[in-house]
Amino acid sequence: MKLQSKLPTLGNSIFSQMSLLAAEHRAINLSQGFPDFPSNPQLIEFLAESARDGLNQYAPMPGVLVLRQQISILVQRCYQRVLCPEQQITVTSGATEALFVAIQALVRPGDEVIVFDPAYDSYQPAVELAGGFTVHVPLQPPLYQVDWVQLEKQISKKTRLIIVNSPHNPTGAVFSHQDWLSLQTLVLKHRLYCISDEVYEHLVFDGEAQLSANQYPDLAERTVVVSSFGKTLHVTGWKLGYAVASVELTSEFRKIHQYVTFSSFTPAQYAIARLLCEQPDDVTGLAAFYQQKRDQFRQALAASAWSLLPCRGSYFQLADYSAFSDLDDVAFCHWLTREHKVAAIPLSVFYRQSPSQRIIRFCFAKEPQTLAMATEILCRLSVLR
Ligand code: PMP
Ligand code: GLN
Repeated sequence: MKLQSKLPTLGNSIFSQMSLLAAEHRAINLSQGFPDFPSNPQLIEFLAESARDGLNQYAPMPGVLVLRQQISILVQRCYQRVLCPEQQITVTSGATEALFVAIQALVRPGDEVIVFDPAYDSYQPAVELAGGFTVHVPLQPPLYQVDWVQLEKQISKKTRLIIVNSPHNPTGAVFSHQDWLSLQTLVLKHRLYCISDEVYEHLVFDGEAQLSANQYPDLAERTVVVSSFGKTLHVTGWKLGYAVASVELTSEFRKIHQYVTFSSFTPAQYAIARLLCEQPDDVTGLAAFYQQKRDQFRQALAASAWSLLPCRGSYFQLADYSAFSDLDDVAFCHWLTREHKVAAIPLSVFYRQSPSQRIIRFCFAKEPQTLAMATEILCRLSVLR
C-alpha cells in the first residue's frame, strides 16, 4: 500500500542536511543557526535546581504562571505593551510550535497566506497542512525591503494571513517604523491576520531601534507575536518559546496548543523565569554581544573576494561568492563543507522560485576562535579560482 503524502515535495530540512554533512566532514558548522558557546551557567544551575526541587510534572497548559509573568514584564519593558499573563501569553515548545499552532488556528482550507521570500522553512508546510496556500512575495538584495505598494497588489479576497519576520532569517533585514505602520495599515484595511516571527527580536545592531508588532496596538490586536528563548538565552535545544496575542486569538491558539503538546518542559520554564527575574540584563545586553561577533566576521572577510550583504539584525550574515566561483549555491555549500571544512546554508532553498544568484548564509553565533578559524579558511579559498 502506498501512503499518499500530505507534503509530497518535502525532504529533510536544509538545516538537518547541512549539520549532518558538517559532522560527517568535521567541518566548522556555520550552517544551522545555534551558538557554539554555553549559556549563562546560572541558568543551567536554575534548571538543575528546578529538577531537584521536584518541578518535574506537567506544567499548566499555557505555561507556568511565573514565566508568563516574566514574559509580560519583558514585553512591557521592551515595547510598553501591557499584557495579561493569564489570557494573552502561551509558553510553547519552541517558536516552531508557536508558528505551527498559530497557523492552524488562523488558516482555513483555501485561504491564502502571504510570505516573503527568502522565507523561513517552517511556514509553508504548516500553511499547507491547514489546507491553505502560500503566496510568495520576493524581496530583492541587498536590502531585502518590502515594497508595500506592490505587496498590496498580491492581496486577494482569499488572503487571510501575512507572516512577517523581523529581524529576518536569513537576510538580517530589519523592519523600520514605516514598515510596521505600512503593515498595520494593510492588515486593518484588508482585515487580515498577522503572525510576527520575532525570534531574533533582541538582536538589532548599530543602535537601531528594536521594534515589534507589540508596539502597534491596532496591528497587535490581529497578530500572534512569536519569540524563542532558544535564541534569547543561547539554549536552542531547550525548545521553549512563546506566543503573545489578544485574548480572543490566544483562546483559539490554546485550543490547538493543548492537543499538539499540551504543555512544555516544566523545569526549564521555572529556570527561565528565575533568570529573567534575577538577571534581566542578560536579554537587553544581547545586541552588543552579537554585534561584536558580526563585526569580527565581517572585518575578517573585508579584504577578501567575498561580498558581504548588509546585516542589521539576527545572527546570520549573507555573503556573495560570485567573484570566485560559478557553482550554484547548493553545490557551493557542499563543496565548501567537503573540501574546505566550513558549512553554510544555500540561500536558494528559502525561495519558492530562487532568482539566479550566488549567495549563502553563515551563522556567526560562535566563539571568537571558531569565527577566526572559519574566516581564515574563507579568506584563503576566495582567491582560488
Ligand atoms: N523562526 C525563525 C525565523 C527561526 O530562525 C527559527 C529557528 N531558530 C524559528 C522560528 C524556530 O525557533 P525555535 O528553535 O524556538 O523553535
Ligand atoms: N532556525 C535555525 C536556522 O535558521 C534552524 C532551526 C532548525 O534546525 N529547525 O538555522
